[in-house]
Amino acid sequence: MKEVNPFETAQRQLDKAAEALDLEESIHQALREPMRTFIVNFQVRMDDGSSRTFKGYRVQYNDALGPTKGGLRFHPDETLDTVKALAAWMTWKTAVADIPYGGGKGGVVCSPNQLSEREMERISRSYICAISDYIGPDKDIPAPDVYTTSQTMAWMMDEFSKIKGVNAPDVITGKPVEIGGSMGRGDATARGVIYTIREAANKLNMSLDKASIAVQGYGNVGSHIHRLMEEQLGAKVVAIGDEGGAIYSEEGIRYSKVMDNMKDHGVFSKDMDGVEYLGGVDEGNKKLLELDVDILIPAAIENVLTEENADEVKADVIAEAANGPTTPEADDILNEKGIYIIPDFLCNAGGVTVSYFEWVQNRNRYYWSQAEVYERLDKKMTKAFADVHNRAREEDVDNRTAAYMVSIEKIAQAMKLRGWV
Ligand code: NAD
Repeated sequence: MKEVNPFETAQRQLDKAAEALDLEESIHQALREPMRTFIVNFQVRMDDGSSRTFKGYRVQYNDALGPTKGGLRFHPDETLDTVKALAAWMTWKTAVADIPYGGGKGGVVCSPNQLSEREMERISRSYICAISDYIGPDKDIPAPDVYTTSQTMAWMMDEFSKIKGVNAPDVITGKPVEIGGSMGRGDATARGVIYTIREAANKLNMSLDKASIAVQGYGNVGSHIHRLMEEQLGAKVVAIGDEGGAIYSEEGIRYSKVMDNMKDHGVFSKDMDGVEYLGGVDEGNKKLLELDVDILIPAAIENVLTEENADEVKADVIAEAANGPTTPEADDILNEKGIYIIPDFLCNAGGVTVSYFEWVQNRNRYYWSQAEVYERLDKKMTKAFADVHNRAREEDVDNRTAAYMVSIEKIAQAMKLRGWV
């Protein structure tokens, strides 16, 4: 398969929206690159007494609307271009969700599965030490992402607080609830996804209790989507897939059945009773993406819908829970086919929205109930969805371009008012 550079994808998506918006060239050029990029190399004492140097990144893409916000990934294949792309998408995401933040992202090049917990702690603390002058509750607020957890955030918040000599829960979100995390953060992204699906179904007159759904990816986001689809929308998930392969059942796969199965295996096993095995990671997921379902939810990794398979997609709606699951070429094909796409930075904005709620609660030292968090999240997602859906119809553009138009207009206006352009 052709290698796709995610930052080039992000820039191409922006270029398309800039053209549709007739964006001033000075603003367009300013938005094509991040404002600030930090590359740090720092030393960490390993358990065997040796010292190793790790590379970390932090990208602050644009802060016209407020302090930058975005996750931290610990991954062996982390590259600056991936971090830049994700930071750009965070910028559009916070703007479309109407959150007073800019966008950022960061990461450390490392292999968490080859590190002990104490080594992970020392890497987390050393990374924060290396970037401590550039982050802060009013500057740049990190959060968990791939292979970082609430425990990682707890260490990082503690290290930052020690360096600055203050108690600063608001420097980082995604913390454990006991030290300032928000209720409802665990399934916030999935909850946001299902709110946008509910709204799309309303617009399309689709009855969700009769709809069939395929979910690719069964991690933090995908597994909660499965549960909430049944619990909140009464919908039927007919296929699920992960790194081990994919399974299908026309009658639907119950969430409780998968959970029971996972108790014994850690991940769901592909020979579960009453389901059809679609194949291993490549073959099974390829078939899953091409199933004749009403709603397809990519919730795993980027670039799974490409020019090679887009023509075979049969779903009426694609809800992009994952970041960057669709290449620009595939996007054109899917739009041509009339598929209703809920674009990633709108669809998965629930996570950053509850992160913002966490920061607001930390600043006020006053905490909300779970019900209050869900209600506020629903309002934000419903409004963001309506802004994008309506804009797409008014301008006769696809939903992704409309989402870019809504968010870039807000950022451009802020840049102008600040006198940057
Ligand atoms: P995760 O690591 O918890 O789960 C990823 C899942 O994808 C796993 O089930 C894994 O087996 C599966 N997977 C990996 N490679 C695959 C492949 N080639 N084919 C099929 N399945 C594969 O990650 P997550 O937190 O659930 O995130 C999933 C996506 O959602 C990512 O794109 C992430 O950037 C995006 N996202 C997550 C959040 C969040 O709050 N966690 C917020 C916004 C966006």
